[in-house]
Amino acid sequence: MSKFWSPAINQLTPYVPGEQPKVDNLIKLNTNENPYPPSPQVEEAIRNYPIERLRLYCDPDATALKQSLANHFQLEYNNVFVGNGSDEVLALAFMAFFRQDLPLLLPETTYSFYDVYCHLYDIDYRQIPLNDKFEIDFADYNQPNGGIIFANPNAPTGRLTTLEQIETLLQSNRDSLVIVDEAYIDFGGHSAVELTRTYDNVLVIQTFSKSRSLAGLRIGFALGHEDLIAGLERVKNSFNSYPLDSIAIIGAVAALEDNDYFEETTQKIIDCREWTTTQLEQLGFDVVPSKTNFVFTRHSSLSGAELMSYLRSNNLLVRHFGKPGIENHLRITIGTPEEMNTLIETLKLHPKI
Ligand code: PMP
Repeated sequence: MSKFWSPAINQLTPYVPGEQPKVDNLIKLNTNENPYPPSPQVEEAIRNYPIERLRLYCDPDATALKQSLANHFQLEYNNVFVGNGSDEVLALAFMAFFRQDLPLLLPETTYSFYDVYCHLYDIDYRQIPLNDKFEIDFADYNQPNGGIIFANPNAPTGRLTTLEQIETLLQSNRDSLVIVDEAYIDFGGHSAVELTRTYDNVLVIQTFSKSRSLAGLRIGFALGHEDLIAGLERVKNSFNSYPLDSIAIIGAVAALEDNDYFEETTQKIIDCREWTTTQLEQLGFDVVPSKTNFVFTRHSSLSGAELMSYLRSNNLLVRHFGKPGIENHLRITIGTPEEMNTLIETLKLHPKI
């Protein structure tokens, strides 16, 4: 701490990301990365990139990627915004849209970056508890003119909200901006992108980190009404006018073009999630129905902390949040079938399971 820190920074509790271990003997199921490599077309595009061109600044508009995304989602170019991971897109959206007089509404259990951003940007917010099935209950979300944000499917619960529920929410909150963070939407959900054609109060944010297997390249994007995108561009240009580097741009374009690979790997993860769910249930775990690349689960005979440290001592890294209400739950990323088999066999050896 320094006397130069502002009061806001003094009180800030920064977001702590899942551990990125420095050793490679661990089965890493803690940060929802994709267990499969990126598309071979990404490798080819990056290998063929003329290194000489790195001498030049990258395209500040990331035109090639925005155009590819517009084509992919059948939107216009000016409905697309890109950033350095969806975390950066979210940060810019908070700066652009949520410094209102009214509080931002968000679920109590959701992606923990949201309340960190509220503290950082001094945004008033109200956290609304999930129901006892870990679902978001939209009856509690009425905000005459302010903001609402949630992840769909939600994290760390994995629960999906339907498109109909989102549309009702948009209709009953016409003067509030609703941000739907779809980091995990490709693992079995229905995207709200189509609602951006009709409603000017919804912004959909997605990422290349999960279903496209490019967490290390840092690419996220937002889709919405052109006025919302223009607001994001205005903040971006005041903050960092080169959100994506040249390699990230060509890597993302190549990943988007390889739809067969995307579908094949995504389906493998979905199948493995269903297998893992059944296996865990047979061992007495409660598993929250998931439409993501992770499961949120607990066992009645063991605390979350005990389970996590047992798995860790067997070289399996999972995520334990330890927050009140979810202190006995673990979030386990879906890895390869071999990795998930090791997880299940390891759990079977626990004397209390
Ligand atoms: N939203 C949610 C719900 C997430 O879980 C994550 C990943 N931790 C992100 C956004 C950010 O992902 P990225 O910055 O890698 O795009």
